[in-house]
Amino acid sequence: MIQWSEQQQMIQKMVRDFVEKEIVPQLDDIEYNGVPPYDILRKLIKTFGMDVMAQQSFEKQLAREKAIAAGETVGEKKKDGPSAMAGEEAAMRMIPIIEICKHAQGLVTAMGVSMGLGGGAIMSKGTIEQKERWALPLLTLEKVGAWAISEPNAGSDAFGQMKTLARRDGNGGYIINGSKTWITNGPYADTIILICKLDEEGVPADQRKIVSFILDSGMEGLEQSKPFKKMGIGSSPTGELFLSDVKVGADRLLGGSEDSYGRSGAKGTFMQERAGVAAMALGMVERALQLSTQYAHDRVQFGRAIGQNQLIQLKLARMEVARTNLQNMVFRYIEMTAAGQQMTLAEASAMKLYAAQAAMEVATEAVQIHGGYGYMRESRVEQLMRDAKILQIYAGTDEMQIIAIARDLLGRV
Ligand SMILES: Cc1cc2nc3c(=O)[nH]c(=O)nc-3n(C[C@H](O)[C@H](O)[C@H](O)COP(=O)(O)OP(=O)(O)OC[C@H]3O[C@@H](n4cnc5c(N)ncnc54)[C@H](O)[C@@H]3O)c2cc1C
Repeated sequence: MIQWSEQQQMIQKMVRDFVEKEIVPQLDDIEYNGVPPYDILRKLIKTFGMDVMAQQSFEKQLAREKAIAAGETVGEKKKDGPSAMAGEEAAMRMIPIIEICKHAQGLVTAMGVSMGLGGGAIMSKGTIEQKERWALPLLTLEKVGAWAISEPNAGSDAFGQMKTLARRDGNGGYIINGSKTWITNGPYADTIILICKLDEEGVPADQRKIVSFILDSGMEGLEQSKPFKKMGIGSSPTGELFLSDVKVGADRLLGGSEDSYGRSGAKGTFMQERAGVAAMALGMVERALQLSTQYAHDRVQFGRAIGQNQLIQLKLARMEVARTNLQNMVFRYIEMTAAGQQMTLAEASAMKLYAAQAAMEVATEAVQIHGGYGYMRESRVEQLMRDAKILQIYAGTDEMQIIAIARDLLGRV
């Protein structure tokens, strides 16, 4: 793939028009005035039929799983191997991410966590009953989802330092105590995937099993904080969760067993997140470059456009290098999906590391090119700079990506 197809360009234009008409006029409200982003996102989903597509694919998967459970013979599910449709679907997922991130990266974060992490975790590891009960409203964003692993003392070392514990209650259920922090959609989530440790007598803390539960907002003992005030991505509400003797039945244990969604389930989710970050960064870099080129062309100092100075030209050139690299990464991801191939952990992590650093560098230089105006909210490049920083922190910090890349490479020797 060397460029978007004609059909993809048409979709791109439609999404761009939607963003200009429906999102841009509301930017201040969702970024700075605390208006939750979900109504806008629901409108986007309906406008582009993403809810209908999600429902169709949900029904197809459920019908298949039910047939297997009933002992019926079903055709082998094609997991690997080329599929033009899979590539097309991947492209259709990337295009809205890129276009929305030009203006409001937070919207993509809020949507991705709810549908991709929340709904995705249930669809990949949940039982049929759990999928029927919780997944579809998350996949269509009718309900808001959160995915909670981080704690005040457990960030990069999420499993090692995790203090939130589920204790067996002796009747097949569990009692959960602890807290989670920096949780995307935490303040508004209707459904929460909570990842914690199993409190078993005699098992040392570092060897405790990781278990996950599906919680509903309003359960006794579960408290959801107000949104935090943050540096950027105001359109993605972030908050804390407090759990005090929250009683859950075994029906809420994700996957129906204590071994269903442990360390490897959560790590599988990290891989998915990393691929999306390249598309997010591409949208932000494209926008920063567009605004910066225009400004460098129009702004006159010392009798000539600032873009005539080589120091400014170097900044623009470096931005274009980053844009090209990111676009190639996104195209490669789409091609690999179409070919039925998976990235190695090193490649997915390298892509996330590069994308996050490129977005931050480009956005910072965009502010520099805009000078004093770049420091003003009205310029919009200052928002890109604040929004870009989070890409280096969530979904695994830059330092954690470096460790993952090196471990994967060294492990092959
Ligand atoms: C806006 C936002 C949204 C988020 N959304 C979610 C969410 O939905 N769900 C969720 O569970 N979490 C979420 N998080 C949490 C996020 O995943 C963590 O912030 C991230 O994993 C880093 O953990 P930490 O903040 O505790 O940093 P720490 O782990 O304390 O790290 C601090 C610094 O030390 C570095 N460091 C740590 N260990 C090492 C090491 N071994 N070698 C070198 N350097 C190291 C880190 O890279 C970092 O620079 C979110 C965070 C933010 C800010």
